[in-house]
Amino acid sequence: MSKKVVIIGGGIIGLCSAYYLQKEGHQVTVVDKSDFTSGASYVNAGYITPSHIVPLSAPGMITKGIKWMFNSESPFYVKPRLDNDFLKWSWAFKKSATKAKVAKSIPIIKDINIFSRALYEDLKNSKDFDFSYDHKGLLMYYQTEKAGAEEWNTAKKAIALGLQVKNLTKAEVQKIEPDVALNVNGAIYYHSDAHMTPNNFMQQLKRYLEQHGVEILSNEEVEDVTVLAGKLHILKTKKRSITADEFVLATGSWSQNFAKKLNINIPVQAGKGYSINVKKETNITIPTILMEAKVAVTPMEGFTRFAGTMEIGGINHTINPKRVNAIAKAGELYYRDLKISDIAKQNAKCGLRPCSPDGLPYIGKSIHCPNLTIATGHAMMGWSLGPATGKLVSENISDKKTSLEIDSFHPDRRF
Ligand SMILES: Cc1cc2nc3c(=O)[nH]c(=O)nc-3n(C[C@H](O)[C@H](O)[C@H](O)COP(=O)(O)OP(=O)(O)OC[C@H]3O[C@@H](n4cnc5c(N)ncnc54)[C@H](O)[C@@H]3O)c2cc1C
Repeated sequence: MSKKVVIIGGGIIGLCSAYYLQKEGHQVTVVDKSDFTSGASYVNAGYITPSHIVPLSAPGMITKGIKWMFNSESPFYVKPRLDNDFLKWSWAFKKSATKAKVAKSIPIIKDINIFSRALYEDLKNSKDFDFSYDHKGLLMYYQTEKAGAEEWNTAKKAIALGLQVKNLTKAEVQKIEPDVALNVNGAIYYHSDAHMTPNNFMQQLKRYLEQHGVEILSNEEVEDVTVLAGKLHILKTKKRSITADEFVLATGSWSQNFAKKLNINIPVQAGKGYSINVKKETNITIPTILMEAKVAVTPMEGFTRFAGTMEIGGINHTINPKRVNAIAKAGELYYRDLKISDIAKQNAKCGLRPCSPDGLPYIGKSIHCPNLTIATGHAMMGWSLGPATGKLVSENISDKKTSLEIDSFHPDRRF
């Protein structure tokens, strides 16, 4: 049965949900307060990440976070605040960062990533789009043996789950990136990963939706809601009131505040990250993470992107030049001939990753609102999980059996 569905938020999660809902024959509207050109879904590293099996809330992260709090160039930073939501999120993060909970999450994260990668491949092979998608894997460069050994331990878990991973010597790495002067001791090579140019795909997806009858409302913030008989009834923007049978909450880092309007509690903190685009040829051909610096490097269409930092410091888009410089410095340290220009650094952009405390997204309906599907909290994997989330949202709204079990993503779960 065709339903009228309104999606609040048009990042990768909102647009992918619109795509699969439209394919199912629903009448879809997407409303976003932005103009569809900026934010996390545009500035990310573009990785499709079956390799990222370990959530941020892993044992040891709290100690690292405390240590890094005093370093203005650190890749992970938590700004302590006397804010109730932040304090509750931090407590839930701490409770999630146990060996047993992480071990339980790992196969779930892997399965949804593999499912999403297959959907990206279907999109790539469909006639709907023509975007760059390369399946070249992901290299983890290390300079210290300690970082290499740590990553190899994670790799062994990935291998046990069926992923193909290799431990490469310095000479082997140099062989697969022959035109780049590397300053590394070796790399762990995950063959499972792919990469894209996010801005390009976002534009194509929006255009496709507009051409296929999806109504896209830009620069309109949903400011208020009306509830009728326990269901979400009307969304209010400055310009209009919008009603529908079903709604999707895909408001990324803004989701916790929005959900409060409906008495739903989904802990989400914004994790700010930065990216720098280097237009000069770098000769880098394979996506890479610079392990010690936690910087992601991606060859994209027409440029190389250097992305990094996870700053849990509330919702703001202030660019901290020290952290941008730290990303550039790391690039220049691992690639001997690389020089990142001041202009590239001045043009750095940031985006907010919507982080749940346990590293799993929220996908599904809360018992507090039966016609609202929540789709957020994807943290470092939102790009990768866009299609899987969109497909699951669409199946949920269409009363179909979901392609994957979604209980672990329940918005009402306790931590
Ligand atoms: C530097 C960086 C690198 C990253 N690298 C990767 C990567 O390589 N791979 C990966 O998988 N992920 C990566 N991520 C994470 C990924 O980008 C995010 O998880 C993902 O973009 C989140 O998508 P979203 O649609 O949930 O949120 P967003 O993209 O933030 O979209 C939410 C939208 O909701 C709108 N909105 C909010 N409130 C309202 C309202 N009240 N009314 C109307 N509209 C509203 C906002 O304007 C926004 O457009 C990275 C992120 C960063 C910052």
